[in-house]
Amino acid sequence: MSVRVRIAPSPTGSPHLGTAYIALFNLAFARRHGGRLVFRVEDTDQARSRPEHEQSLIHALRWLELNWDEGPDVGGPHGPYRQSERLPLYQQHARRLVEAGRAYYCFCTPQRLDALRTEQRRLKLSLGYDRHCRDLPLDQAERRRQQGEPHVVRLRMPLEGKAVLQDTLRGAIEFEYGLLDDQVLLKSDGFPTYHLAVVVDDHLMGITHVIRGEEWINSSPKHLLLYERFGWTPPIHTHLPLLLNPDGSKMSKRRNPTSIDYYRRAGYLGVALRNYLGLMSYPPPGEDEKFGLEKWVEAFDLGKVSLGGSVFDLDKLLWLNGRYLREDFTAEAVLGELKNWLFNDEHLGQLVPLMQERMETLGDFLPKCAFFFARKVECSTEDLVPRKRESQEVAQVLQTVLWALEGAVPWSRDAVEGNLRKVGEFWDWPIREVTGPLFAAVMGQRVGPPLFESIALLGLDLTRARILDAMNVLGGISKKKAAELEEKWKAGKQK
Ligand code: GLU
Repeated sequence: MSVRVRIAPSPTGSPHLGTAYIALFNLAFARRHGGRLVFRVEDTDQARSRPEHEQSLIHALRWLELNWDEGPDVGGPHGPYRQSERLPLYQQHARRLVEAGRAYYCFCTPQRLDALRTEQRRLKLSLGYDRHCRDLPLDQAERRRQQGEPHVVRLRMPLEGKAVLQDTLRGAIEFEYGLLDDQVLLKSDGFPTYHLAVVVDDHLMGITHVIRGEEWINSSPKHLLLYERFGWTPPIHTHLPLLLNPDGSKMSKRRNPTSIDYYRRAGYLGVALRNYLGLMSYPPPGEDEKFGLEKWVEAFDLGKVSLGGSVFDLDKLLWLNGRYLREDFTAEAVLGELKNWLFNDEHLGQLVPLMQERMETLGDFLPKCAFFFARKVECSTEDLVPRKRESQEVAQVLQTVLWALEGAVPWSRDAVEGNLRKVGEFWDWPIREVTGPLFAAVMGQRVGPPLFESIALLGLDLTRARILDAMNVLGGISKKKAAELEEKWKAGKQK
């Protein structure tokens, strides 16, 4: 049986470094064993999935030269490769389970489930579905369904017994069925949940090995049960350790840039980043930590993955990137990289309209917009804090700016402006007291080209990194404070 592996990202945001790391290990495994890598888009979360996120994912992985054999953009014999285009398949499979008594229709309304949760919280019980519809006779349920009553399909979990996950790196992991909820498989809008879709697709696409992040370990017993209920053989599972911040916490965008787009926009080289990801929880193939994909794949052995954790260290990536630039690129090649990066007509053409009015001579262009080309900018407390305001206050305002910008979807100049205005309203600050610190954070200068346009062009990921740097200059804000603030921000009221 030939090896078939897959990456199955959800296009719900900026392309994540973790996706590239998982893709790299799947690619190496496929190449090493003469197998194929499938790219499947898991876009069943209708509210959060967007085609532009899928595009940027594809673009980002291609920039890292991580290529797949089958996928939505290249086709293949097991398509479609986008889950939103496979709905009838999930519906048929859900039905098959219902008819076999392995799953059931549930008509509980969102209101009932909310009330249930509130009551469980009040009584300090564990939260979960109370299996209210589990024993409805099928003919009754069928009638209600045919009359158009909204419903979901739930998996009938065994009330006792154990699922055993055989993980290639971790050995056997046991789960008590009794502790698991009757998982929703099909939502009331006819879309599957991740659990149903992943199992149906991995099976239909002939996936032999599932190599994914360890955050999915707890989902595995549901998947294993589904394989069993369908009468299918499950693939071999390997859960890779998560990427960590240097302090050992899970890598998150609140602390470190996690978007591949950030690294590209900040001027890193795709080869260096890919090389660095190959060192995550894995030993270098020889003496040197700098190595090409070929060499790495040749010696690849999944069993060598260490579970100790994989710290993503920006300084080390920077060091490696510098080595690539100095050791592997001719001056001509560097020039080519610069042009591809930002010194091209498209990007310069976007900047000129912002700069033209601010120039006396052509020589004013670059100094005034150097921040567009910088990996990072320096800013001082003095520039960041408006008169009569405190550093701590500004740090908190910048935190809300970050949330506001994250809400600017789809990303555009107007969305940036509209959402930044909400920050002013939230704090009851004049907008210039919000934009002033932002000029300093994003440009490293108090004045510059129009702010909203500039942020729109810099993109969310680079802007976020600069705002986080500025917040650090101001002493940062504690986790507790951030949590309190987030609650207020979500409620839209400061007091
Ligand atoms: N859609 C999941 C994700 O976003 C896939 C998890 C899996 O590989 O099973 O990562």
